[in-house]
Amino acid sequence: MLRLNNLKTYFFTEEGVVRAVDGVSLSIGEGETLGLVGETGCGKTVTALSIMRLIQEPGRIIAGEVFYNREDLLRKSEEEMRRIRGREIAMIFQDPLTSLNPVYTIGDQLTEVLRLHQKLDKKEALRRAAEILKLVNLPSPEKILNQYPHELSGGMRQRAMIAIALSCAPRLLIADEPTTALDVTIQAQILELLKELMQKFQSSVLLITHNLGVVAELCDRVAIMYAGNIVESADVNAIFKHPKHPYTMALMNAIPKLHREVERLEVISGSVPDLTAPPAGCKFHPRCEHAMPVCSEKVPVEKEIEEHRVACHLYDAD
Ligand code: SF4
Repeated sequence: MLRLNNLKTYFFTEEGVVRAVDGVSLSIGEGETLGLVGETGCGKTVTALSIMRLIQEPGRIIAGEVFYNREDLLRKSEEEMRRIRGREIAMIFQDPLTSLNPVYTIGDQLTEVLRLHQKLDKKEALRRAAEILKLVNLPSPEKILNQYPHELSGGMRQRAMIAIALSCAPRLLIADEPTTALDVTIQAQILELLKELMQKFQSSVLLITHNLGVVAELCDRVAIMYAGNIVESADVNAIFKHPKHPYTMALMNAIPKLHREVERLEVISGSVPDLTAPPAGCKFHPRCEHAMPVCSEKVPVEKEIEEHRVACHLYDAD
C-alpha cells in the first residue's frame, strides 16, 4: 500500500546541507504495522512529513518516489494532497498542542474534518464526533466537544488527537512518537487504545518511535533508521531475537532489563553524526564495535540475510 523508493529530503541551511533523509526505501503492506525506530535526529519524523508532503522551507524532497496505492504522491498537486491527507492518510503527532488549534473547540476541529471529508451536515457531524470521542474512551463526549485543547489533560488531548486522525477511517495512519510526551501510566493507556483501534479499523500504520517496548507491543515489522538511512529491517520477532546490524544490536543492548544491575546497562557510545558532514562510508563506523577498514571507505549496500534486509559490510561476500 505504501512504498518509498530512495527518498531523499535535505534541508538547505546556512550551516550547510542537512541530509535528514538520505535514500530511504521501505514498504508497508495492507493492514500492517511498521515500526520506524532510531535515536532522536535520525530522520524518522522527516520521513513521515515527506510522505505527507508537509516538508517546510528550507527543507525539500530532492529525489525518490512515495507510492501510495501505486500512485506517486510526489507527483500530486497540492489540492490532491489536501484530499488525501486526513481522508486516506492521517498523522498523529507527539505533542497534540502543536497540531490541535488552540482557538477552536475539539468539536469544531472534529466536525470540520468530518464535514470536509465525509460531506456530513452539521448535525450529523456533531453526532458522529460524539461517537468517535466515545470510541477513544473520552468521558462525557458532549462536554468535551465544547472544550478547548488547553482545558484538557495531556492524555485527553492525545485521545482527542487520535479521534481526529481516525475520524475518516484513514487507510494509513502515521503515528509519530504518540506516547512520548505523556507520563508512564497514561502512555500505557494510550498504547492499549491504539492497539484496540488498529485492530478495529484494520488500517496500515507507520509507527515512529525510539521505544523498542512500544515496537514489541504493536508492530509486525521494524525498520531501524540511522543518520538518514534504513540500516536493517525485518519482522519484529527476528529483530528482537537475532538483530544483524551492529546498530540494531546496540539498541537492543540499551534496553533496560528488569533484573540487570544498573552498572551493566549499556548505552551506545558516541552520538548521532552531524548530518551536514556525515562520516564517509558507513555512517555508523565511528561508533561501531565491529568497524573494519572498508567501513570508512565504502557505503554498505543493503542485502538480504535470512529474513532481514541489512546494510553492513559484515555480511559482504568474501
Ligand atoms: Fe559497523 Fe562496518 Fe557494519 Fe558499519 S558497515 S555497521 S561500521 S561493521
